[in-house]
Amino acid sequence: MARAKLTVDLTAIRRNWRALDALSGCDTETAAVLKANSYGLGITRTAPALAAEGAKTFFVALADEGAELREILGIKPKIYILSGLLPGDEKLCRDYDLTPCLNSVDQIRRMAAAIPGHTSALQIDSGMNRLGLEPADLTEATDHIAKIRADLLLSHLACADEPSHPQNRSQLQVFKTVARDFPDLRRSLAATGGILLGSDFHHNLTRPGIGLFGGAPFSDGLPVVSLSLPVIQVREVEEGESVGYGATWTAPETRQVATISAGYADGLLRTAGNGQVSLYAGDTPCPMVGRISMDLITVDVTGLETVPSHLEILNEHQTVDDLANAAGTIGYEFLTSLGDRYERNYKESQQ
Ligand SMILES: *Cc1c(COP(=O)(O)O)cnc(C)c1O
Repeated sequence: MARAKLTVDLTAIRRNWRALDALSGCDTETAAVLKANSYGLGITRTAPALAAEGAKTFFVALADEGAELREILGIKPKIYILSGLLPGDEKLCRDYDLTPCLNSVDQIRRMAAAIPGHTSALQIDSGMNRLGLEPADLTEATDHIAKIRADLLLSHLACADEPSHPQNRSQLQVFKTVARDFPDLRRSLAATGGILLGSDFHHNLTRPGIGLFGGAPFSDGLPVVSLSLPVIQVREVEEGESVGYGATWTAPETRQVATISAGYADGLLRTAGNGQVSLYAGDTPCPMVGRISMDLITVDVTGLETVPSHLEILNEHQTVDDLANAAGTIGYEFLTSLGDRYERNYKESQQ
């Protein structure tokens, strides 16, 4: 049966990690953030590719993701859990050697009581006000902090994708001030956007996620995902006839329209169907017409000599960010929305 095929280029992921690593000095280690099943692309294949390229430190959001990653990567790599030590995760953290990024007084207390000998990180709030310890929390938890084995101080930038945003510098200042009280801890502030802000932001460890997968703001990244969708029929639409729900597109003259088997249930966000997106027959763009429905998309293929069995919606001509922009969202959301009905392939070219 013709299936939609999602192909992930592991070599491109490795090159993107290397390129991001090259942006910071040799004193700065480059980690890899693989939360949400590697931004939807599959942790089972992407994590070993990055480890083979040299990544030694990984971040995921949840302890369950960390346990899965530990089974994939074996005992060596360092695995941090960004949500910290949630109630009930103590055993997973101990059994799978996961390092929680503690973000509240409560979590520090629980760490000190349950697994004090185990390593942890302190996640501080430098201005994003989402997760992290405030200066007052650090003071309140001083005694407990003395009992735990923290090895990293981290914080996260809210506006790093806007290089001139004044909050970048103000968060850097807060981070450096807090770090003075923890001279023995390694420091980490930059995700993909922060790496691009320059060396002031790099500290000891950077944490790129989206840049590994070719997404903005890392505009020099190689595209990683291609998506090829099966054509299930082609029909002639006469002048004045409309196509799809809401009859939003009307043929201005006789057109050939292909119906494609994939839709918003596969993460091809319905809002992307606003006339900006094409599907590709090789290098030839064919405009999407009409609305994206749950399982189907319609495409104007007039002018193609032969209609191929598949058309591509993601390739080197149209990236995840192009689709995200058309849908009024960001590459992160588009990637993590891609559904599980695709046949997933991983390709690795010779290094
Ligand atoms: C998701 C996340 C990252 C990675 O961010 P990217 O923008 O994808 O590079 C780094 N640190 C934290 C705390 C995160 O939540």
